[in-house]
Amino acid sequence: MSPAPWRFLLTGARRRGFSTDASAPSASSQLPRGKRWDAVVIGGGHNGLVAAAYLARAGRSVAVLERRGVLGGAAVSESDLVPGFRFSRCSYLLSLLRPAILRDLELERHGLKLLPRSPSSFTPCLDGRYLLLGPDAEMNFSEISKFSSKDAMAYPRYEEQLEKFCQLMDFVIDSAPPELRQEYHTSMVDRMKDRVDKSAYWGNILRLVMQQGQKNMVSHVMVNETTGRVEGVALTDGTEIHSSIVLSNATPYKTFVDLLPANVLPENFLCSVKTADYSSATTKINVAVDRLPQFQCCKGINPEGGPEHMGTIHIGSESMEEIDIAFREAESGVSSKRPVIEMTIPSVLDKTISPPGQHVINLFIQYTPYKLSEGSWQDPDVRKSFAERCFSLIDEYAPGFSSSVVGYDMLTPPDLEREFGLTGGNIFHGSMGLDSLFLMRPAKGWSDYRTPVKGLYLCGSGAHPGGGVMGAPGRNAASIVLEDLKVK
Ligand SMILES: Cc1cc2nc3c(=O)[nH]c(=O)nc-3n(C[C@H](O)[C@H](O)[C@H](O)COP(=O)(O)OP(=O)(O)OC[C@H]3O[C@@H](n4cnc5c(N)ncnc54)[C@H](O)[C@@H]3O)c2cc1C
Repeated sequence: MSPAPWRFLLTGARRRGFSTDASAPSASSQLPRGKRWDAVVIGGGHNGLVAAAYLARAGRSVAVLERRGVLGGAAVSESDLVPGFRFSRCSYLLSLLRPAILRDLELERHGLKLLPRSPSSFTPCLDGRYLLLGPDAEMNFSEISKFSSKDAMAYPRYEEQLEKFCQLMDFVIDSAPPELRQEYHTSMVDRMKDRVDKSAYWGNILRLVMQQGQKNMVSHVMVNETTGRVEGVALTDGTEIHSSIVLSNATPYKTFVDLLPANVLPENFLCSVKTADYSSATTKINVAVDRLPQFQCCKGINPEGGPEHMGTIHIGSESMEEIDIAFREAESGVSSKRPVIEMTIPSVLDKTISPPGQHVINLFIQYTPYKLSEGSWQDPDVRKSFAERCFSLIDEYAPGFSSSVVGYDMLTPPDLEREFGLTGGNIFHGSMGLDSLFLMRPAKGWSDYRTPVKGLYLCGSGAHPGGGVMGAPGRNAASIVLEDLKVK
């Protein structure tokens, strides 16, 4: 997807502690009866978990309620969709995760291992050339020179500029936008000190307070009609969970349109949420294969994996015209004839996620309309024919790919919506155009995670700074909640 330089493959590393399988006890059977929580988090996506961890680390009791039987949301790993294989079902590369989260929550001590892609990308061409790019400046120069010596000279300058831009963005990403509406502010430095002080025992507390692996589907947020304050949430089985603080990791649309009573929000706010852009044209296919694809443009054969298998592999999209045609087809309701495909093969780096010699292949595919002008994504023939179209396109670059497929799991935009609660199938909880970022996310006047309902906060990708496995919305939201709790 997009040229974002996601640097690490998200592999199927098993999460410790927080997730169990879908057959775990359903609904609220394990929730302590009558308990009043300091905070309730709707949704156990990575941002909900980050927010919960920061709140727990500050000594607050937190319940995380997830509608699926497994935690992680769009950053989940799941086994046995094809027996013996473990897939990162949605997101597949990690590079945006905020360094402060890694540090504060001691994620490496808790088992996180990052597997760097090197080289980071491989672009095979049908004319027999290819482009390999990675951290090695000399290799980049000689690789780009195969196409243009002018571009090869310019590339380091381009990277330098991007680097400077990233440094500028760090502060913006790691803090709440400066909403004028706010009455109180403690300094960022004070907040950071506070967290460091508490880091010694946050892990223990977190273990005590998190609810694990149950299916807890929130049906609505309870709001006191007189005070307009949040009182907790109700689950679909009728169980009420009480707290004066609720953080929602669900999309803004789900949170404000589906989970709240109709009359508690200002009309202009609700109108912004309803008219936000949730369109999407991306499909993910998780493929299990019995051998690695061998690319025609690489002369040798690498059955165990060569440099071409290590990073993101770009299939199709050989010219701007080709991409434009693929996009226009989707705009008119037809899935692209020659889709733009990003392929990654995490099992080359992580041998634990597939049987020996076999591999997990992620295909991130553009463009597939949410609604087809003819036929439906529900139709197994339509689904099969699109998957086979993608596999045949890969055959053009790596002959025999189709015949190596032993099984696959396909998520079209409506599947992403149904399965993961992603409104419209949009992978970022709403478009990330300039008109919906920073002070405009999720709606003008409400970019600091607070919402028009007192005690209700947004902590997912629909809030600043947006989507991607970044954790920033969860971390920033938790810091605002803690600020408000101090003031109370
Ligand atoms: C196909 C795909 C590929 C992607 N690739 C990448 C990538 O390679 N790298 C990257 O950085 N990003 C990628 N992204 C984007 C990234 O995965 C998401 O932006 C991010 O994971 C969203 O995290 P979140 O915690 O904000 O929300 P989510 O992960 O959407 O979590 C929200 C959670 O809330 C739960 N929920 C919703 N409603 C309720 C309810 N009523 N009751 C209880 N629970 C509820 C949902 O089930 C879900 O678990 C990809 C996304 C997709 C879909």
